[in-house]
Amino acid sequence: MKAINSTIDILLIDNNQVDSRELEYFLKNIKSKSFKLTRVKDLNASLEFIKQDHHDLIFYIVTQHEYSNLSILLKLRETNSREIPLILISTINEFDINLLNVAIDDYLIWSDISATLLEKTIYLALKKANNRKESTLIAHENIELDSQLLTTKKLFQTIIDNTSTLIWMCDELGNSTFFNQAWNRLLGQNIETRLNSKWMLNIHPQDFAKCDRQFNQALSETEGFRISYRLKCADNQYRWISNYAVPQFSVSGKFEGLVGYCFDITSHKTIEQKLIQRAASDRLLAHITQKIHASLDLDQILQTTVAELHQFLQADKIQINRLQEGKLTLLFESKFNNQPLSCDIDHPQRFPILLFQNNLAQLAAGEIATQEEVDSPMSKGDLCSILMIPILPEDKLWGILCIEQCSISREWNTEEIKLLERVALELSVAIKQAKLYQQLEEANQELEALSVVDGLTKIANRRKFDNYIAAEWTRLAREQNPLSLILCDIDYFKLYNDTYGHQAGDRCLQEVAQAISKVIKRPADLVARYGGEEFVFVLPNTPMAGAKYLAQQVRLQIETLRLPHINSPVDLYVTLSLGVSCCIPSANFSFHTLVTAADKGLYQAKATGRNRVVEYEIEPE
Ligand code: GH3
Ligand code: MG
Ligand code: MG
Repeated sequence: MKAINSTIDILLIDNNQVDSRELEYFLKNIKSKSFKLTRVKDLNASLEFIKQDHHDLIFYIVTQHEYSNLSILLKLRETNSREIPLILISTINEFDINLLNVAIDDYLIWSDISATLLEKTIYLALKKANNRKESTLIAHENIELDSQLLTTKKLFQTIIDNTSTLIWMCDELGNSTFFNQAWNRLLGQNIETRLNSKWMLNIHPQDFAKCDRQFNQALSETEGFRISYRLKCADNQYRWISNYAVPQFSVSGKFEGLVGYCFDITSHKTIEQKLIQRAASDRLLAHITQKIHASLDLDQILQTTVAELHQFLQADKIQINRLQEGKLTLLFESKFNNQPLSCDIDHPQRFPILLFQNNLAQLAAGEIATQEEVDSPMSKGDLCSILMIPILPEDKLWGILCIEQCSISREWNTEEIKLLERVALELSVAIKQAKLYQQLEEANQELEALSVVDGLTKIANRRKFDNYIAAEWTRLAREQNPLSLILCDIDYFKLYNDTYGHQAGDRCLQEVAQAISKVIKRPADLVARYGGEEFVFVLPNTPMAGAKYLAQQVRLQIETLRLPHINSPVDLYVTLSLGVSCCIPSANFSFHTLVTAADKGLYQAKATGRNRVVEYEIEPE
């Protein structure tokens, strides 16, 4: 558009052939602008110029009866892109604009025209045309914007209708105002049903309170939230939904409600729960395995396993049953509050024996047996899910790990079954281990029975003494040669233990045993641990004098050893009391006579002050 103060191109249509020189004169007198005037003699001649569209203004000089031509001009001008401003100049003084009923920009009466009036009229007409053009432009822009808005709206609607994201809106009071199509697909309800808030009833009962609380808090605090809950869907199954809500505010900052968008996170949750469950069963298994490895006590292992499995699985009852000669015996059981349950294994009628019998071959082959419903007269029609896991150490059915859930129907998931299988495997290891341990114990006992050496002191033991004295008694009875016996006992040894501790006591016994062993030199002599802190010497072919001498040597040996015994009333060191006896063995009496005599000597040695040797003569029979 031309600036108002640049040269203004005027088309003058002059039907009346008036003298336009005066008009040109006025235009020249307008100093603020310069004008270029093109003059045409009639309307027809003007048409070509108007089409060319380079004029800024049209002056149309008319008489009253030419008004009808005006409408042609106006029409023509409208087809032109920019509606050139039109000013009528009437040669008639009584010109009535209202009679025209057409849109012109202004009019002038020929006789009134002056330079000032002309300048003002031109200025206003151009301004008016300019405004008209601007509003046309704005109107065009508005139409364009409206159309863009509509396209965007349609695009958004398409996205909102087809997205799998669940979108909802509510007003500031919490009344639902919108749900997108994704909700229809998920819940199988139409939008109207959901708008009246009944859809909230689809939330899992355990999640409802927290959702309700969160929603109301968001409304009262005008804040967003994020929450996960389970929602019952069209197929009547619960799915996990993650819900984000964002508060909406007007331009003036007024809270207008919430916009929420939700995602179905069921698969994510399932994986998460599986991982949590796997970690928990791994922990439990590690714990049970560690217990099995730490203990050889099978009963304790079975008992803890049952208790821990019970705690973990939250089942009604866990049992370990032993199978022996075709009969099942309950070994350990763990159940809630010890309440009698409808399928109670303690009552033979209630034990799922049928499940066991029908699946015996399967169980013996290492396969699990399951039953969803127990149809026994005692089960009172209750649902009962049972799992029987075979325990097979050495590939032979040893027993059954039995899990029961009777109060509610329960499907055992693969993770739980895997755990139970691995527990049964660990139990098999424990059973094998316990069996080996038992065999080892028995072998040890047998070995010990055959052993002749005392475990602690490493000198001959009591068994060796018993056998040896019996043999020597018979031999010397035959040869009629003397057999002597020394019985010795550490003085105040109880006090020694009390003073230095039992382990120090053991070490003392070892040192005493080693020391007294050095005294005897003959191959036929035997020193043995008689019991506790008592030792015995068997001295074949040794008379009383020799035995007494040896006994003194033994006593001195210990005295010189100087093993501290600060609390002993006898000395500051460990001392021995000894009883000696001697006889020529006979088939008429037993070696016990000899032992009793030495014991009596020892008793006297104790009674007369300890740390001494006392001989005791055998009274003739
Ligand atoms: P006495 O002088 O009258 O013999 O007194 P004592 O305390 O030695 O006799 P007593 O029979 O009252 O106690 C014997 C103690 O020897 C009691 C027991 O604890 C201890 N004893 C027996 N066998 C062992 C053993 O193998 N190791 C240890 N450390 N102590 C033992
Ligand atoms: Mg004693
Ligand atoms: Mg003693």
